[in-house]
Amino acid sequence: MPSSLPPPRRVRARLCRRPAGDNSGRTVWLFDLDNTLHDASHAIFPAINRLMTAYVARVLNCDEATASRVRVDYWQRYGATLLGMIRHHGVDPADFLRAAHEFPALPGMVRVRRGLAAHLRRLPGRKLLVTNAPQDYARAVLEIAGIGHCFERVVAIEQMWVHGHLRPKPDRRMLRRLLVQARVAPHRAVLVEDTVSHLKRYAGTGIRTAWVTGYLRTMAPSRPHDVAGVPASAQDDGSRRDAAVRSTLEAEEDRRAGHAAQEHSVTLVAAESQAPQAPQAQPGNVPLVRARVPNRPAYVDIKVQSMHQLQRRMRRNGS
Ligand SMILES: [Mg+2]
Repeated sequence: MPSSLPPPRRVRARLCRRPAGDNSGRTVWLFDLDNTLHDASHAIFPAINRLMTAYVARVLNCDEATASRVRVDYWQRYGATLLGMIRHHGVDPADFLRAAHEFPALPGMVRVRRGLAAHLRRLPGRKLLVTNAPQDYARAVLEIAGIGHCFERVVAIEQMWVHGHLRPKPDRRMLRRLLVQARVAPHRAVLVEDTVSHLKRYAGTGIRTAWVTGYLRTMAPSRPHDVAGVPASAQDDGSRRDAAVRSTLEAEEDRRAGHAAQEHSVTLVAAESQAPQAPQAQPGNVPLVRARVPNRPAYVDIKVQSMHQLQRRMRRNGS
């Protein structure tokens, strides 16, 4: 009898990958990771900034204070340190991001709200994770948070190459391709994000947007952090006017003049753009202050503080 036969291997594999929770309904949720599903401002983002500074120092062969200022200079000029590192120093994006996300003590750095997995499971619809962070980091955070089983797919920065160019969020081409791959019409997709500029960028693409504000913090924008006992305030004298930084950059630029720039292909990188640099080096000293969150902008369909609130809102309104 055909019904007693085990399903073909391919079907079995697909069944095994089926994520836990309520996958019914027409909505497809595209979840951001950092500061959306967990509190990255607490320890991870400050650590990423320190790791980026160390990477810049290695590549430029300069001291840490100069590297910190270069990092900030690139962040200010291009919107992401990586863009400057690709443009002026020809770094491999994957190598840079891997180095910036190496956390031996990651389990102690991930903070999630109680009941997160249950709230995600109860949220009706398919769920994909879409993060500008590297795949290994994203999967590790999901595992630690106990929510990896809720997602049918993890789309990390390694999966954001479009026609030979790296197109992280908020690139529209990447999102359009993702929706085609997931076989979902834009009006059925909801992007769940803390980064309001991403939501704004996707306004007009037809997708709906949910803005998660619960982990937003007020931090000094794009400041150098403390380096080797030198307070950040002592370094922040305007990197554009900093002769040491300028000479370092010019020397590097001359040396790399022949490098084929890829910077036009990269629009944004998650961590530093989502969380402006903390003014202190040690996570425990970072003054995390609840941000003053403005009212819901027109391009935000849903504004919530947490996944619990999102799930309750959807249950009340229907998805
Ligand atoms: Mg985020």
